[in-house]
Amino acid sequence: MTRDAPRSTEDLLGPIMLSAETIASKVKELGQQITKDYQNHELLLVAILKGASIFASDLMRSIDLITEIDFIAISSYGSTTKTSGVVRIVKDLDSDLTDRDVLIVEDIVDSGLTLSYLKRNLLSRSPRSLEICSLLVKEEKQRTKINIRYIGFEIPDNFVVGYGLDIGQKYRNLPDIHKLIIPERENPH
Ligand code: 5GP
Repeated sequence: MTRDAPRSTEDLLGPIMLSAETIASKVKELGQQITKDYQNHELLLVAILKGASIFASDLMRSIDLITEIDFIAISSYGSTTKTSGVVRIVKDLDSDLTDRDVLIVEDIVDSGLTLSYLKRNLLSRSPRSLEICSLLVKEEKQRTKINIRYIGFEIPDNFVVGYGLDIGQKYRNLPDIHKLIIPERENPH
């Protein structure tokens, strides 16, 4: 068990920060805005695995355009709850991005390091346009200024789980987004 891994399903799950209903209505709103902004264009959603998979599949169904989806998986080195900024692609896209309108779909932006790496990488593949849609942004935490065109919610600096977001691969299936209560490191002395 790693230091930050939950000890049981009950003792780490904090209160609901965003309910399933609140999320659903925001996803609908984002979908409508994206539909309006990309009128007469075909869109390619690039969802970042695994966290954004649930958001991306809901978002896709709220977009009324010809829309494709592709997935990329990134591994970032660091502890369970912090990103180091050192990022590696572990599953690349199947699609060619040349001349495509590409929208990166992310679950949460914390420091912004993951997305700034990914944005640079995808830009080198000559898309027609490249924008970002993130369900959650920890505004005060961003170390790298990246332009996020679509933001669902700005949240305080709490670690959150649910609706695709995990800790140690758990809690992705929760319909609401919860704060996580991270236990103090057990003092062996
Ligand atoms: P960044 O590179 O922006 O610091 O971190 C982004 C990645 O860190 C996200 O894609 C997500 O995997 C993870 N992350 C950052 N904050 C949280 C959080 O509050 N909860 C969860 N479950 N993952 C987070």
